[in-house]
Amino acid sequence: MGKIAKMSLHLANMIAAGEVVERPSNVVKELVENSIDANSTNIKIILSNGGIDLIKVVDDGDGMDKDDVLLAFMPHATSKIKTEYDLFRINTLGFRGEAISSIASVSTMQIISSQTGLSGYQCTYKSGVKQNEGVTHSNKGTTVIVNNLFFNTPARLKYLKSAKSELASIMFWVDRIALAHPSIRFTVISDEKTVFQTTGSKDEKTLIGELYGIEACKNVMIHSYTEDGYSVKLVLVKPCIYRSNKLEITMICNGRYVKNYNITNAVIEGFNTYLPIGKYPIGVLYFEIDSTLVDVNVHPQKTEIKISDEEEICRILKTNIKKCLEENTHIPSRIIEHNNNPKYDKVSIFNSSFSFGEEKTTYVCSKEESGDLLTKSSEIINNDNSANISVDRKNITDFNDKAIIDEKNKEENIKPASKKIPYMEYVGQIFGTYLIFQNQEGMLMVDQHAAQERINYEKYYKILALKNQPTTELLVPDVLSFTKEEALYVEQNINSFLEIGFRLEQIGQRDFVVREVPLWIKLDNLSSVVNDIITLLIDNKKIDIMFFRDHIAKSIACKASIKANHRINNDEVKALLSDLELCENPYTCPHGRPTIIKLSLKDIEKMFERIQK
Ligand code: ZN
Ligand code: ZN
Repeated sequence: MGKIAKMSLHLANMIAAGEVVERPSNVVKELVENSIDANSTNIKIILSNGGIDLIKVVDDGDGMDKDDVLLAFMPHATSKIKTEYDLFRINTLGFRGEAISSIASVSTMQIISSQTGLSGYQCTYKSGVKQNEGVTHSNKGTTVIVNNLFFNTPARLKYLKSAKSELASIMFWVDRIALAHPSIRFTVISDEKTVFQTTGSKDEKTLIGELYGIEACKNVMIHSYTEDGYSVKLVLVKPCIYRSNKLEITMICNGRYVKNYNITNAVIEGFNTYLPIGKYPIGVLYFEIDSTLVDVNVHPQKTEIKISDEEEICRILKTNIKKCLEENTHIPSRIIEHNNNPKYDKVSIFNSSFSFGEEKTTYVCSKEESGDLLTKSSEIINNDNSANISVDRKNITDFNDKAIIDEKNKEENIKPASKKIPYMEYVGQIFGTYLIFQNQEGMLMVDQHAAQERINYEKYYKILALKNQPTTELLVPDVLSFTKEEALYVEQNINSFLEIGFRLEQIGQRDFVVREVPLWIKLDNLSSVVNDIITLLIDNKKIDIMFFRDHIAKSIACKASIKANHRINNDEVKALLSDLELCENPYTCPHGRPTIIKLSLKDIEKMFERIQK
């Protein structure tokens, strides 16, 4: 009984028009997806010369009988699509019918298949012409061998990139197909070397390890949620491991790899302040969604999808990512790899020249931060730390008194595990910038500026999020004058200003009087703050209140925080830590740099070669 149905010529032409086969990776994707549809549990991909000389896909799926093997080479054959309507439906999920005949027309192609594993049938085509067919020995499943792809179309052959980049393109697809199918075992052998393998363990955490390495596996966070019409399983890697591009944010929709610009951005925004600027998370989003909510995309080659009510789906996604991060993030442990990580190389440690001079480091923030809002303005907030930090007097420990520390240590050990920062004994400050601590696990370092920046960021973010900003009416109203363009922006966004606590009234074409300001503002900086908001407005065209809160909070936080080369006393250290502990995310500054890092005792011992790897 044949499983493959013939489709209309019109439909076949449509597929052909999509130029299905441009590169070896297209062939691999087609063949592997066919194997998946045949219920395979073990798929082996064997390549030579980046797939240009050989692509061999071996599966243990249902297999085909003689009729199906022969029909597979027919130009209009597909097992999946029967009507144009089907083609469109399937396209929404990013896959399309098989393209065996188009591949067979530009290569030498053999299909060997068996439904029983006892005997099979094989058929070979070259340049679209049948060479031979017959009964053959075969394991259960299907093997497809594509030799010399594009040998008869020199133009396409010339268009191909190097074997290395063709292999990279194949691996891109295999990665994503593997992520979509955790229960299938994939193996890729390229030029006789196994370059990729998954175990088909069904377990997403294991799969992450197989794709991104053991450290990523150790740092997997899983978080699921269900909404009306869809459910989502987030498999995210903690922000201590990240990438410099967005490519490792993978969306799997109803078992297929798809792309959606807004979803990707929602993931990046969900990681806001957890990752350094310009760094992106690794994660897989498994969406199970009612197919009527997925919008049709008619281009056969594209994987982009549209989802109805994307904005709401993105908003919920962001909230869930934040929740997941808050539940799961911990102090990053700096991993020592003697050969791979020159930063921790013994030699470089001894060679690095640290400067103790006050004039060398004046400001600890990274370069990225200096581009921030308000950087031009001087301090907005009173920089008196003791006033900002509420010190719990009875908690203050004399850090030099060992006995008290030990007592404290015992006490802290019984604290619940949910505590975000472990007990740490203060050792001292270095470079006027980093606070050194120790506990049983190792040595911990806190960047005092980053830590206080985080505390202040969360504080101001909360204040700025208040619907009714605590404001103060100005006894002597301030008059601000703008350029014509600026005045227009202010006029258009006068309500947005009100939302963040500024009550402005237009009194002339370019003049505004400030009646009310938020309590947090320092009056001598009023015009510079308003000006900075306007600059943001001009750059971003429309006011997004969440975006503004985030930016303003980051900027005020930076200004208000202790700088480098500032000695702080033990009480201040204690207060800083207890405030940091109250933060939703105490582990990074609002710009995503770590506030606290750990060098484990084991790593220290390794560095001194007291223990071997
Ligand atoms: Zn800063
Ligand atoms: Zn920062």
